[in-house]
Amino acid sequence: MSDPKDDLMDWLRDAHAMEQQAEAMLKATSARLESYPEFKARVDEHLEETKGQAERLRQCIEARGGDTSTLKDMTGRMAAGMQGLGASMASDEVVKLAIASYHFEQLEIASYRSLIAAAEALGDIELAELCSRTLVEEQAMADWCAGWIPVVTRKFVSRTANDQAAKR
Ligand code: MG
Ligand code: FE
Repeated sequence: MSDPKDDLMDWLRDAHAMEQQAEAMLKATSARLESYPEFKARVDEHLEETKGQAERLRQCIEARGGDTSTLKDMTGRMAAGMQGLGASMASDEVVKLAIASYHFEQLEIASYRSLIAAAEALGDIELAELCSRTLVEEQAMADWCAGWIPVVTRKFVSRTANDQAAKR
C-alpha cells in the first residue's frame, strides 16, 4: 500500500509544474497581444497571480518535506514543449489564444478541486485553504476568458470583414 501523503506530494509537484507552465504560457500570450491591450492587461495581471501561486506551492512542498530539485526537469521539459507554439500561430491567433487561455484555466480549476479534496481528506486544512485561495483566482480568470472569447471573436471577424471591404 502506498502512503496517501506520497500521492498528495506527487499532486503538489504536478500542480507546481502546471503553474510554471502557466507562467510560460501567459508570458508568451502577453507578448503577442500588443493590439489587444484589454486582453494583455488581464493576462499580465494573472501572470503576477500565477507567480504567487507557484511560490505558495513551492513553500507547501518544502514545508511537507518534499524535494523541489526534481521539479526543474519537469519544468524544463514543459518549457521545451511550449517553444513550438509561437511559430505555428495562424492569423486568427488572438481568438485561439483566448480559447487556449480558457482551456488552461479549466485544467487548473480541476487540479485545485482535486487537491482541495485530497488535502481535506488527509486533514491538511492549511493546504486546503491555500488551494481554495488559488482556486478563486483561477475561477476569476476563467470567467474573464469566458466573457472575452465572444468579444474578441467579434472584433476579429469585423476587422477581417473591414480589411476585405477595403480591398474591393
Ligand atoms: Mg494558476
Ligand atoms: Fe491560472
